[in-house]
Amino acid sequence: MIALTHPYINDPKYWRERAEELRSIAKLLDDTDAKRQMRAIAASYDRLAEHTQQQSKENKSGEASAASTLIKGADDLMLDQLKESNRSWAARMVSENADFFRRLERQQAPKYLWIGCSDSRVPANTIVGVDPGELFVHRNVANLASPQDANYLSVLQFAVDVLKVKHIMVVGHYGCGGVSAAVDDERRGLVDHWLHPIREVCRAHRSELDDIVDTRARLDRLCELNVMQQVRNVASDVFVLNAWARGQKLAVHGWIYSISDGLIRDLNVTVSGPEEL
Ligand SMILES: [Zn+2]
Repeated sequence: MIALTHPYINDPKYWRERAEELRSIAKLLDDTDAKRQMRAIAASYDRLAEHTQQQSKENKSGEASAASTLIKGADDLMLDQLKESNRSWAARMVSENADFFRRLERQQAPKYLWIGCSDSRVPANTIVGVDPGELFVHRNVANLASPQDANYLSVLQFAVDVLKVKHIMVVGHYGCGGVSAAVDDERRGLVDHWLHPIREVCRAHRSELDDIVDTRARLDRLCELNVMQQVRNVASDVFVLNAWARGQKLAVHGWIYSISDGLIRDLNVTVSGPEEL
């Protein structure tokens, strides 16, 4: 997003420099997708440079209207970039497997339900390297499985009763902003209600958490404890208990992801039946 107050917004030189910067970064990248995407954004900056050049030649009336036209132009270009990127992704998938989308269209039969955080840095399919169709996904702030949340319950019931997934993984992540916001004593409004279950977890493990001196390490431990609690919530839900009662195979796992190294750690709190609760 380009701020309205950007001092160089009308300066074609600014956009040319940004485009050059991106191209020099793209040269250093190994990942060809990232390289191509960065070059495409650089090309959209080139178009902005041309646009601003043209704009200043035409000397349109009023700085403000020129700026707002440009901002709309910049936003549109960014959105165009997403659409372009989608087209190239779809083409790549078909080039690798001509039947890819036809197969997905026919059915979805994922074996896994992923309950994760909404954080943009924790994209479910990407971090476990699986294609569309492999994961049924529910995400919310701080990966909560709250028994009063109709959205989560609907997803859980569909996954267990209809898709008959074999595994449910609750996936938290270190440095979770939601977990941190739950316990920082600031008031934010509605989200404070949403995050209330994390404060309960914090209270229940007060002495363990108080013994951790380092603030970051304490929050990371709370992220783990939150995942463990959500695993218990899922495993004690009536949909899951009913599935076990009718002999359906189903395991609930607790994982935590580290944004700093891209790795998932298993918290070893798997529940595979009511006797393990
Ligand atoms: Zn998070």
